[in-house]
Amino acid sequence: MSAKIKFAKVTCNDFYSTLNKRVSEYFTINKLSKNANPLMIFKIFFYLSIFIAAYLLLILNPNPLSVQFLLWIVIGFFTAFIGINISHDAIHGSLSRHKKMNKFLGYTFNIIGANAYMWGIMHNIVHHTYTNIEGHDEDITSVPFLRMSPHQKLRKIHRYQYWYAFLFYGLGSLSWVFVKDYVKFFKKKIGNYDNKKHPRIEYFNLFFFKLVYYTIFLVLPMILINALWWQVLLGFLVLHYCEGITLAVIFMLAHEVEEAHFPLPDKRGNMQNSWAVHQLYTTSDFGRQNDLLSFFCGGLNFQVEHHLFPRICHIHYKPISKIVKRTAEEYNLRYNANPSFRAAILSHIRFLKKLGKNE
Ligand SMILES: [Zn+2]
Repeated sequence: MSAKIKFAKVTCNDFYSTLNKRVSEYFTINKLSKNANPLMIFKIFFYLSIFIAAYLLLILNPNPLSVQFLLWIVIGFFTAFIGINISHDAIHGSLSRHKKMNKFLGYTFNIIGANAYMWGIMHNIVHHTYTNIEGHDEDITSVPFLRMSPHQKLRKIHRYQYWYAFLFYGLGSLSWVFVKDYVKFFKKKIGNYDNKKHPRIEYFNLFFFKLVYYTIFLVLPMILINALWWQVLLGFLVLHYCEGITLAVIFMLAHEVEEAHFPLPDKRGNMQNSWAVHQLYTTSDFGRQNDLLSFFCGGLNFQVEHHLFPRICHIHYKPISKIVKRTAEEYNLRYNANPSFRAAILSHIRFLKKLGKNE
C-alpha cells in the first residue's frame, strides 16, 4: 500500500475558512439549526411509514402475485430512500444534535440489511477523506468488471462497460447484505485505514442484525406470504435490484462523471490540493433546482455540499449550495454540477465509455 495521504495545508488561500464562515453566518442570521427541521422530520416519518406499511401489506394480506411484486418493488425503492435520507445523515451525526438520537436512527441502516458501524468506517472516514483517490477510496474499486478510474487497469471487456454497467449496479445491495459487510469487517485494512480492532459489541451487532434482516425479509415472507418459495425469492431479488440501482446511480452521478477528478498523491503521499479543494474537484452536483429529486435523493444531488459539510443535515444543502458556488467562483475553483438528472446520467455514460477505451 502507498504512503499515508497528506493533503496540502493551504491551497487557494483561505477558501475553506471563508466558506465555513459564510455558511455559519447563514445559520446564525436565519436562526436555523444545522440539524433536522420540520420538513426533515416529516421525511423521516414519510419514508418509514410507507416502508413499514408496504411490508405489512405484503406479509399479512393475501395479495395476488402481481400486487406482491409491486410491494417488493416499493419496499426496494423505499429501502434505498431510508438509507440515503435517514441512515446516511444519522450516521454522519447530522440529523440531530443529540448523539443518542443519531445513533438510534442510524440503526435503521441495520434494519435494512447494512451494518451501520462498518458504514461509519468505510464511508464517513475512508470515502469522505480520500474521495476518488485510487487505492484509498474503496468505493471506486469495489465494482467487478468495471473500470471506475483512469488509474485502473484497462481490460478488453471494459470497452462495453457503458452498456452493461447498469446491470451490475442492480446487484450492489445484494452483495452488500450478504458479502461486503462481512468481508470489510474482517479485512485488516480498508484503503490505508487500520481496520484490525473493533469493539466487542460490534461483532455481536454484525451477526445479530444480519440475522434480524434475513428473518424479516426472507424467512417471514417465506412462511407468511401465500406464494411458492421461488416466487418469494424472486420478490426479494426484485427488492434488491430496485434498491441497488437507486443507491449505485446516486453514487455514480456524484463521483463517476466527466466533471469529477481522480488525483493521485506523489510518492510521499502528498496531495496537490487541500482537503476542501480536493472535495470540490472529485465531486459533482446534479439537478440542483429539482426539489423532488432532492427529496428522494436525500440531498445527495448536492454531493459537493455534502462532502464539504457532512455534519450538516441534507435538508439545508440547497441554500448552502449557492454560498458554496459563489465562494468557489470567487476563488477561481471548479464547481462541478450537471444541470439535471438526465444530464448527469449522460455524463456518467460518456465517462464509462471513455474509461473503457482509455481516452
Ligand atoms: Zn456521506
